[in-house]
Amino acid sequence: MSEQPVTLYPSRAFKDNARLALTDAKLRHSLRGAMDFLMAKRLAAFPDADELAALRALGEAIRQRCLSRLPELLEQLEEKLTANGAQVHWAADADEANRIIHGIVAARSGKRVVKGKSMVSEEIELNHYLAERGVEAVESDMGEYIVQLAGEKPTHIIMPAIHKTRQDIARLFHERLPDTAYTEDVDTLIQIGRRVLRQKYLEADVGLSGVNFAVAETGTLCLVENEGNGRMCTTVPDVHIAVTGIEKVVEKLEDVAPLYSLLTRSAIGQPITTYFNMISGPRKPGEKDGPRQVHLVLLDNGRSQAYSDAQLRKTLQCIRCGACMNHCPVYTRIGGHAYGTTYPGPIGEIISPHLMGLENTRDLPTASSLCGACGEVCPVKIPIPEMLMRLREESQRPAGERVAHPLRGQGAAANAAERAAWRGWRQVMASPLLYRWFGLAATRLRRFAPKRQLGWTQNHAPLTPAAKTLHELVREREAARQERS
Ligand code: SF4
Repeated sequence: MSEQPVTLYPSRAFKDNARLALTDAKLRHSLRGAMDFLMAKRLAAFPDADELAALRALGEAIRQRCLSRLPELLEQLEEKLTANGAQVHWAADADEANRIIHGIVAARSGKRVVKGKSMVSEEIELNHYLAERGVEAVESDMGEYIVQLAGEKPTHIIMPAIHKTRQDIARLFHERLPDTAYTEDVDTLIQIGRRVLRQKYLEADVGLSGVNFAVAETGTLCLVENEGNGRMCTTVPDVHIAVTGIEKVVEKLEDVAPLYSLLTRSAIGQPITTYFNMISGPRKPGEKDGPRQVHLVLLDNGRSQAYSDAQLRKTLQCIRCGACMNHCPVYTRIGGHAYGTTYPGPIGEIISPHLMGLENTRDLPTASSLCGACGEVCPVKIPIPEMLMRLREESQRPAGERVAHPLRGQGAAANAAERAAWRGWRQVMASPLLYRWFGLAATRLRRFAPKRQLGWTQNHAPLTPAAKTLHELVREREAARQERS
């Protein structure tokens, strides 16, 4: 496969992207159908509300306990994996992670990497980095393979090609894969993709995967998948590289079962996935298969910023199920590409500011009606609306204001005129006398209310003060009541 272009959607252009996405009837139709399907599947997977509540509480407790001990658990994970024969690497940012991964591939003079699903590899733009250095990286998850073939980014963290119709995929395969007849038959399309990918596993110098849970007590990397491609990537090539964010570590093996159940049921309504891989190290003497080298790359890339703040740390509880996206009235209408980030939807709105800085993501925390659906379905009870409010506050906080844990890009959306207006509003609301004067002035001068009121009048009628103040209305009603009695 030739080098794929990286399609970047600058997150600062979020509003324009969202507006454009809303005019795309085909996208709206595909998303609506897919999201309704996923929501129904999740609902059916949790028929007992009490069991769900107990499981969510357990999931939250596990994630919070593990995060509270994150530094020591990471050290324990490294120690156990090293004892198992694996090699652990630490990456402060995307560039360092890419350099480490390329270094491992280059040490074998490798030219081909086959990849299982890994959102972290999307986050660091690994394919692009490797392609620039003459290394072909092929996605083997069918959805990822489709978007790679189309030169796009995933639009959903669980279902990367959910925006594509059967016809889109049929056309794509016909146009991009040599000697492929046009067919809309789903089974045939899957067979075509499989045929191409089987060969890639055999040719690959290195297999790369993500990690769902990294168990500190045993040094075990757990990988959840349905297609078997994850197992092929991690066992067929001689070298396996796993790449993950530092937050994925859990303390004990027994922590995995409830999180796994929450993950698969919340994501796609399945009690379990077809494959659950547990990787503890390279092939041992006498074993007939498995990689000869296993590497784990642990990526920070802004996560320690979230970790250092007690409230924002909850962001790192995420187990990447995608349920918040499926239930978000914004995501379900505009899809993932409009966000311009690796992680779209509510989880993207709360994690991206740490990964990319508020200066690049300042509009994202405002892409929410704060209806609360995301927080209600989150299997590990992340209070997403609270996080969104906090990030909005941080993007409005003046850049020079000193706080205990400043966020990168603090004050990116700060607006002196708006702050002055809110300060004036606070003073009016805090003083009964000022409030009355303000009310009188607003009602008497109502005909001068502007017809265009910033973003509000793009979709609403202009706001006009009432003809009388509340005090006047109450006084009139009281006078009428006394007249009647
Ligand atoms: S924030 Fe919660 S609902 Fe959203 S992807 Fe993460 S775990 Fe799932």
